[in-house]
Amino acid sequence: MTRIDPTSFRDINPGERLLMGPGPSDVPARVLQALAAPCIGHLDPYFLATMNETQQLLRHLFQTGNALTMPVSATGSAGMEACFVNLVECGDEVVVAVNGVFGTRMCDIVTRIGGKLIRVDGEWGRAIDPAAVEKAVKSCTPKVVAVVHAETSTGACTPLEEISRIAHAAGALFLVDCVTSLGGMDVPIDALAVDAAYSGTQKCISCPPGLSPVTFSPEAIKALERRKHPVVSWYLDLGMVRDYWGNERKYHHTAPVNMVYAIREALRIIAEEGLETRFARHRLNHRALVAGIEAMGLAMLVPEKERLPMLNAVRIPEGVNDARVRKALLTDFAIEIGGGLGQFAGKVWRVGLMGHSCRRKNVFLFLAALETVLKAEGFKARPGAIEAATAVYAAAG
Ligand SMILES: *Cc1c(COP(=O)(O)O)cnc(C)c1O
Repeated sequence: MTRIDPTSFRDINPGERLLMGPGPSDVPARVLQALAAPCIGHLDPYFLATMNETQQLLRHLFQTGNALTMPVSATGSAGMEACFVNLVECGDEVVVAVNGVFGTRMCDIVTRIGGKLIRVDGEWGRAIDPAAVEKAVKSCTPKVVAVVHAETSTGACTPLEEISRIAHAAGALFLVDCVTSLGGMDVPIDALAVDAAYSGTQKCISCPPGLSPVTFSPEAIKALERRKHPVVSWYLDLGMVRDYWGNERKYHHTAPVNMVYAIREALRIIAEEGLETRFARHRLNHRALVAGIEAMGLAMLVPEKERLPMLNAVRIPEGVNDARVRKALLTDFAIEIGGGLGQFAGKVWRVGLMGHSCRRKNVFLFLAALETVLKAEGFKARPGAIEAATAVYAAAG
């Protein structure tokens, strides 16, 4: 047996960061406190009540009456996989709209489970065109039509109303990725007639990564019950997970007890703030950030009307080194932002204003820090970023 010296491992102490990337976002102290509460048995009456309350709070955030609403015990990608493996069987036709990394991931999953993929490719950095989805839907008999509401890889927002109508007109289930949108903008599941949706804890819910809230409509549950073959994933089979989170409390797996405390607290904070207030806060801070960015002479990737409030993709100016700027922001200012993905690697920065990170003081701190770092890079930002952001806040009253 090899020996290791335990004293060579120091205490975990990452220090403070300001998380303004594509997730995780800053976690409020109250959520960290909840995470540190005593771990109890997952069938303890106290925990069962906590599970029920978590589901109630989740239904409020999803704006749904769906009975099957609960956090899957893994990150957002597991929620994505759970939705597809439960609704898609080998040979089923599935239309997936792709305008970034996460739509691409959906396609990968559909193919792996033997679904027949009909892929609608949209331009990265733009919303999906509903007419393109309609054309694809009419070319087949889709069981599911899937779209990413908030493409975190580009900062583009795809409106859901029209695509929902197209999916239902074709008799398909409507599946939505709201990992980045949920908690930062309106995602009214029932009003939009969404049949299956998943999210993640570490974006606008501002809880550490580790859970994926999922909701299934009664129609989606019917499709699940009408399956010809068992769900190919044992862990993500919502038929069984449902009996664990439902009244039976039939043991399936052990819920990550402390993570459930944490999301419950994060959801309680959201309910205290109020959904409308929270969404308005995201829109306002986004507008102030964009005003500052543009005042500096930098450009946004996504056209104004298609922008997400919580994920801001900024074009990296010619001659400026992507990695050096992000490193300087982190080491000199303890600010984390994200780099570009796929075709935008090295081309854009992704600046998050998610949940608890989405605050006026952070907008100012980021603008000032970026200006300073760009100056050191030899890029002369135009003056007036702070003033431009201030003007947005002043006009909002
Ligand atoms: C972050 C994200 C995911 C994946 O979530 P993980 O928690 O990283 O597994 C999926 N879809 C979108 C739109 C995301 O932003």
